[in-house]
Amino acid sequence: MNKNKLDQKIAILGGGQLGKMLLQAGSRLGLNLSVMDADKSYPAAFISPYFICGDIRDYDDVLNFGMKADIITIEIENVNIEALEELEKRGKKVFPQPEILKIIKDKGKQKMFYEGNHFPSSDFALYSNIEEIKKDVESGLVKMPFVQKLRSDGYDGRGVMVVKKSEDLDQLFTQECVVEDFVDFEKEISVIVARNPSGDITAFAAVEMHFHATANLVEFLFCPANINSDVEEKAEKLAMEIASTFGIIGLLSVEMFVDKSGNILVNEVAPRPHNSGHHTIEASSISQYEMHLRAILDLPLGRPNSIRPAVVVNLLGENGYIGSPIYENIEKCLEIDGIYPHIYGKRETRPFRKMGHVNILGDNLSDTIEKAKFVQKTLKVKA
Ligand code: ADP
Repeated sequence: MNKNKLDQKIAILGGGQLGKMLLQAGSRLGLNLSVMDADKSYPAAFISPYFICGDIRDYDDVLNFGMKADIITIEIENVNIEALEELEKRGKKVFPQPEILKIIKDKGKQKMFYEGNHFPSSDFALYSNIEEIKKDVESGLVKMPFVQKLRSDGYDGRGVMVVKKSEDLDQLFTQECVVEDFVDFEKEISVIVARNPSGDITAFAAVEMHFHATANLVEFLFCPANINSDVEEKAEKLAMEIASTFGIIGLLSVEMFVDKSGNILVNEVAPRPHNSGHHTIEASSISQYEMHLRAILDLPLGRPNSIRPAVVVNLLGENGYIGSPIYENIEKCLEIDGIYPHIYGKRETRPFRKMGHVNILGDNLSDTIEKAKFVQKTLKVKA
């Protein structure tokens, strides 16, 4: 007999902050969740009695862990795909599906997927050594500025290099890579889509990434994105089409560039809860974490509505501090309405380590951004 959908055992690969927030959402629904990752000092371990120590990149560890569950999912792409394929063969539900994960984990295959399905994305070529890139720059086939990206194992901007001038060519990555046209974008946005096995599909409101004027870093994210309704509709449609073409079950976060004329190009996707959906815990009628669980359990997705404008500020370890973290001035922030810190519980802070984030809600976007700026300059992670 089929189990009640909510009784199915869910195994999560990865015990970082995204895993922790999946557990928090699942706990409200009374779900049966376990997590595997390397070490019990990871954020998800603090709140899970079913945290298993194991290597998410190891075939046997993933297979053994997955065999005890009905559904296997991830909070990070860097997992053993062969084991996921074997689990699928043995009748387990693996969401996102391993064949989709294989495409997404390889930025080269991802670009070929967009090209093959006529989704707008920057022009690109694949390279396996630096000499070929230099030769093509010399012949004019590759024009500067261009962007070099490692095909695999890049994360949070690591493994991505903008090449602007001849001297930069000496810094090129030596591994297999994608070389793509530099996009002179006006805005970077993200739309998170959810899709369940019954074919129900929905999307969260677009989020805009705001870059620091001088340091090329995402300073904060905000929702609603400051784009007109035409662009918003186009972005949502494109994100949904990409998710449907993949046939993904679960979440797909779709990062896009918007140029000055309102044209949209897809940059990359992530098949799991994403940093660009952190705010949905307090700012949306359904959080991205609950949505992911609803989707993989084949429950109704509902429709996520934005409740209030929101800004997300990342809490990074201050430069110069290593050790047990102190969240300086957190009380000053808690005095203000609509400020929700999410502290991941990492035992050690290091310079620029992601230690948490703060969701900031307000009555309108400009007032919310002002509060976010206050949090940014007030709340510091030191040791
Ligand atoms: P990661 O997977 O590490 O997040 P991305 O592919 O998203 O890497 O690239 C990181 C950042 O680099 C993007 O958020 C964007 O700001 C910039 N970037 C990436 N590709 C391009 C491009 N083709 N043109 C201009 N900027 C780019």
